[in-house]
Formats: sequence, C-alpha cells, structure tokens
Amino acid sequence: MSDGLVEALRSHVRGEVFEGGLRRAQYASDASNYRVPPAVVVYPLDVDDLITVAAIARDRRTPLTLRGGGTSVAGNSIGDGVVLDLSVHMNKVLSIDPVARTARVQPGAVMSTLQREAARHGLRLGPDPSTSTRATIGGMIGNNACGPHAVAFGKMSDNVVELDVLDGKGRRFTARDDLSVVPRLERFVADNLAVIRTEFGRFGRQVSGYSLEHLLPEHGHDLARALVGTEGTLTTVLEATVSLVPIPPNPYLVVLGYPSMAAAADDVPQLLAHRPQAMEGLDARLIEVVRQARGAAAVPELPDGAGWLMVEITGQDAESAMAAAAALAGDATTRSSRVLPATDPDTARLWRLRADGAGLGGRTPAGRQAWPGWEDAAVPPETLGAYLRDFARLMERHRVDGLVYGHFGDGCVHVRVDLPLERNPEILRTFTTEAARLVTAHGGSLSGEHGDGRARSELLELMYSTAARTAMGQFKSLFDPAGTLNPGLIVDPVPLDRQLRRPLALPILRQDGFAFGDDDGDFTKAVHRCVGIGKCRADNSHAGEFMCPSFQATKDETHVTRGRARVLQELTAGGFGRRSWAAVEVRDALDLCLSCKACASDCPAGVDMARYKAEVLHRRYRRRIRPANHYVLGWLPRWSRLARVSPRLVNAVSRVPMLSSIILRAGGMDA
Ligand SMILES: Cc1cc2nc3c(=O)[nH]c(=O)nc-3n(C[C@H](O)[C@H](O)[C@H](O)COP(=O)(O)OP(=O)(O)OC[C@H]3O[C@@H](n4cnc5c(N)ncnc54)[C@H](O)[C@@H]3O)c2cc1C
Ligand code: SF4
Repeated sequence: MSDGLVEALRSHVRGEVFEGGLRRAQYASDASNYRVPPAVVVYPLDVDDLITVAAIARDRRTPLTLRGGGTSVAGNSIGDGVVLDLSVHMNKVLSIDPVARTARVQPGAVMSTLQREAARHGLRLGPDPSTSTRATIGGMIGNNACGPHAVAFGKMSDNVVELDVLDGKGRRFTARDDLSVVPRLERFVADNLAVIRTEFGRFGRQVSGYSLEHLLPEHGHDLARALVGTEGTLTTVLEATVSLVPIPPNPYLVVLGYPSMAAAADDVPQLLAHRPQAMEGLDARLIEVVRQARGAAAVPELPDGAGWLMVEITGQDAESAMAAAAALAGDATTRSSRVLPATDPDTARLWRLRADGAGLGGRTPAGRQAWPGWEDAAVPPETLGAYLRDFARLMERHRVDGLVYGHFGDGCVHVRVDLPLERNPEILRTFTTEAARLVTAHGGSLSGEHGDGRARSELLELMYSTAARTAMGQFKSLFDPAGTLNPGLIVDPVPLDRQLRRPLALPILRQDGFAFGDDDGDFTKAVHRCVGIGKCRADNSHAGEFMCPSFQATKDETHVTRGRARVLQELTAGGFGRRSWAAVEVRDALDLCLSCKACASDCPAGVDMARYKAEVLHRRYRRRIRPANHYVLGWLPRWSRLARVSPRLVNAVSRVPMLSSIILRAGGMDA
C-alpha cells in the first residue's frame, strides 16, 4: 500500500489508526465468504476527521471502504485499503423531530438505538433488518436494507429524506431532490431516460445494481434515494435525515402452516391484499435444526406444516386487529393456523427464531456448514412459488441443500447453501451463475436486500443489458472518477470467487485436546462456524441472553466473539506465519474471553469460544511452562483443598494488604 499512508493518517487524524495484524484480521471479513485484509483501519472521531482520512486516501489513490456493523453478507464492507469503522465514535442519534417525523443521525448509529429513541415519540424507522441490534444506519443506507416490515414501509431508499455526503472527488453536498448539486448529472439522466425507465425499479425488491429510477422526473429527481444501496462506491454518508413512521398499534401474529415452502409462497399474493405489516416464510427444517441444537423446549408450538408463513397484522384496537387476523387466516388456502397477540410470550420467541434464521441456516439438518453467496435473491411475489420449485430442483441437481426462509411478502428468499467451499470452491461460481440465470428468468433480482458486494457484482451482466451497465458506469464516474471508493463492487466487479476465506484454511485435526466431534474433529471447521452475523456485538440481555460480556464491557472488536473467531480463522489460514498458536494477535484476541460459554448457547451459528480458547492454550503450552495465573486460577480446586489444611493461616495472610497484594501480583492477577 502507498508509502507514508499510516504516518500521514497518524499525524492528521484525531481518531485511532491501526495497522497491526490483530485489526487487519478482525476487519478482513464481514458476514460474507470473503477475506480481504485492509492496509489500515481507522476509527474517525467526527465528520472533520472522516473528511481528513478521505482526503489522505484520495491523494494516494488508496481504496476507501466504509464500515458500520460489518454485517454485510456479500463482501460489501471489506477492502484492501483504508477501512473506516464509523460505529465506534460516529454513532449518535442527533435529533428527532416528532412533528416532521424525521430523525437526524450519524452514520454509525445502531438501528436499535434509533428505534429506542424514536419509540419515545410513538415512532419507528420502517425497514428493520434482522441485524437491527448491531447494523448501523450508514450500513443500512449503503445496502438499501429492508427486513420484515419493508413490506409495509418500503426499503431504506423509501425512508431517507436527505443525506450529507462526501464524494470520491472530495466534494461535500446535501443530496435530496435536486440533481444540479452534481455536475453533469441532469444531462446523464436526460441521456439515459429510456434505459432507466425500462430496466430499473421494475419491482419492489430490485436491490441489485444502482437504483437509477429515483433520478427520473416522475420520481422527483430524488438523488438521496438514488444514493441508497450504492454500497459506499459513490459517496460517503456523513449524516442522514431519515423519515419515521408511527408504530402500528395492536400487532397480532398469524402463523399459517403449509405442506411445503413453495405452497406457502403460492398463498402470498392473495394474502398481501390484507395489507400485512410483515409476511415471513420459515422452513420446518430450520426449526428442526433448532430442536437438534437446543432441545424441543426451545421451539414454541407451531401449527402443522412443513413450511410456515408468519404474518403480522394490526388494527386500531385489539378487537379490529383480532378480526383482521381472523379474516387473513380465513382467506388462506390452509386451515392450519395459530393466532397470537403481541403479549403472548411465544410471539417474541417465534420472531426471534425467524431473526436468528441466518445463523441457524448456517447448518443443514445433516450438520453440514452452509454458506451465503446466493442468500437474498428476490422475485415479484406472484412468481415466488414457481421460483422456489425451480430453485429446489437446482439444488438437487448440484446435490446441495439449504434451508429456505425470508421476506416472502416481498418475494425475497433467504437461503444458505452447503456448497463444499473448502474442497471445491469452483462450485460457488457454477452454482451462483445458474441461480442468477434462474432468478432473472423469473423477472427477479440477484439481490433483494443485501446488495451485490463481491458475491454478485460480477453476475450483474446476466441481469442488466450492456446499455444499463454502461449507464451505471457513467453514474459512478460522475461521483468517483478515480474509482477509489469501495472498488470492485457493482461497476468493474472483482471475480466472485476471488479472495474466498474458507479455501485458504487448512484442516487442523484433533490431537489430545478437544474431539470437535460435531466438526469432523477439525479445529478449522469449528472456528469457521462463525460467519460474522455479529449477534455477539448486541446487548441481548432483554431476551435473557448474555453473549458477549467482554464486548459489553469494552465495546472493542478485539473482545467480541466474532473478532476472536476472525483471528482464529486467520490462524488456520496461516496468516500469522510460523508463530500461529503463540502469535501475539491470538493471545490478545483471547486474553479477555471469560470462557463464560454464553456464546455456546446464544450464538445461532454455534460458536463455542471458551472451547476454542482452551484448545488454543492447550496447543500453545503443551509441555511448556505456562504463565503463573494459569496455575493459580486453573488449579483453584487444588489450592482450596490445600487451604483447608490451615484455614486460619490462609485467612490471616490474606488479611495483610501488602502480603495479599504481593501474592496476587505473583499469581499474575490485578492486585
Ligand atoms: C444474520 C443476518 C441477517 C440479516 N438480515 C437482514 C435483513 O433482514 N434485512 C436486510 O436488509 N439486511 C439483512 N442483513 C444484511 C445486513 O445486516 C444489512 O444490510 C445491514 O443494514 C448492514 O448494516 P451494517 O452497519 O452492518 O453495514 P456494513 O456491513 O458495515 O456496511 C454495509 C455497506 O454500507 C457501506 N457503508 C457503511 N457506512 C457507510 C457510510 N457512512 N457511507 C456510505 N457507505 C457506507 C459499506 O461500505 C457497505 O458497502 C442481514 C445480515 C445478517 C448477517
Ligand atoms: S465465552 Fe468468551 S467469546 Fe463467548 S460469550 Fe463468553 S466472553 Fe464472549
């Protein structure tokens, strides 16, 4: 990377600048299949700091990648230049205007923080990705996030009012309904009217590519909306004004059971007439994975079926809401149903199971690891059933499996497929290319909410004509002619099978430590359970969950389950060279892990960091002298047995401050 970059950043930026292996390992991945270690990671303090970093990167033609929660699933928030994490300092909700129903936020503000503050005024942000407890507003704008309630409130692009942005040339402007703020933009739209009208904005979940339709005169020349979903490739969002909606009253959950997921999908178009607030699909096999992992008690009662629709319906009062729920259930083609008010504890439990879908779907019922890459395609809801049947045939042909769920009301299907990435990475290209042909044949979009990232940008040529792709290239160069903003995404794409994380890692088979029986006796497989969904970054205590206490204390990626797993994955890929088990990065990542086992029960992907830590320490110190605190704390039962021989002496010694302080220090503990 360019000479003097780190020095320049350190001397001009007030926030933290990191170039060490620990941060590079933590930020090399998001929730995708890719590994792209950055040259530098920066935590800017404020807008001025961010602008300074961007100027330094621009002068050196160094790629700049923005990051919020890092929960992108397609490799959208990783890059090999400067990665800016805005979630650390630029994370405030600045103001809420309950009359105008808007909120002004910093880009690193976590979605659930905004929801909490807006709720005081009876308001909420409409779109709500399942990752809302750690996803940031900047990241939601970057990816055009949606979520279950997008069926009622639209995508993120439908919920922005104005954006304060910085483009790739260093120009700062406010984007809203005026194209004149960007030179030559009006001309660009006038020259491309036909292709924009015919190929863009064809249906609700056309998230792939740039959303050029918002620039059209009939859509109000809305530049702010057009910048949503551009994945940090055109502008950096410095601050945003988003619109809020009243919290719908009296929500009821209607669960409908069907003989298959495709049958559930067939029912969607007619049920949409009931104007639901959310309409989600859930595969029975996903529930089976939960039963296997957490026991039958973990699953609330569900109506009979091999697939379910979970529909939220509201009404002005409880009576009308109940009547609306009954009417919807009556209109369904199935008689298998359960209706629950929001106050029923099962309602929250069922929604939580749905939200944990991506983590749970990371394993097939046969126990094989399943990967993203084709995880959020969307079709118009009328063709959803047909698409699902064809997609099931495609998986069968490739002898792979995946659990289907997602935002069925919007035609958006989530699935992780057990492609054998470690043995045969080529299958990712073959499978996703065929899937892309299939979804476009159904009039759909490669991505229905996660964006294109590294996983799908290359496939845009199957979805858009040459003219449309040329228009997207021209649009990009109006903002970032040098191509330094998050390069390789959407325009000039990197190959979808370059820089994959899993194939780099070599097996580390069991020795005399843990058996890793659920992972074929392979430590590498075990640590790759972490796919980066980032639930460990959230405070899950409201749900009676405790993962991850060390992160709750420090708010540092070093001390969170995900960050630790990334460092261990780097170890298995040989990223720390010959130091491996003894690497200082590994030591620092694991040092503050309390081995509390909260992740073992709360992480939907089944990460058990306490076990990995014990294995690492075992391999690191086998037949070697350990640090003093290992003996002091690890042998506590022995010491307490010994103390029982002469309790008075032990108590007397421990009451002398000087002596106990010396003993604690000698034992490697904080006095
Ligand atoms: C388990 C799981 C479930 C998910 N469920 C959903 C779902 O229901 N609905 C949904 O829509 N998505 C979902 N996602 C995808 C993802 O969580 C969302 O897209 C989320 O909004 C990303 O937010 P983030 O803060 O993590 O963004 P990041 O991953 O950090 O960034 C996202 C993109 O935005 C860009 N970016 C970040 N900040 C800025 C900025 N200030 N200016 C310009 N660009 C910026 C990044 O460069 C990147 O391209 C899910 C992901 C996972 C892992
Ligand atoms: S075992 Fe370690 S990583 Fe897992 S939740 Fe506890 S402190 Fe966090």
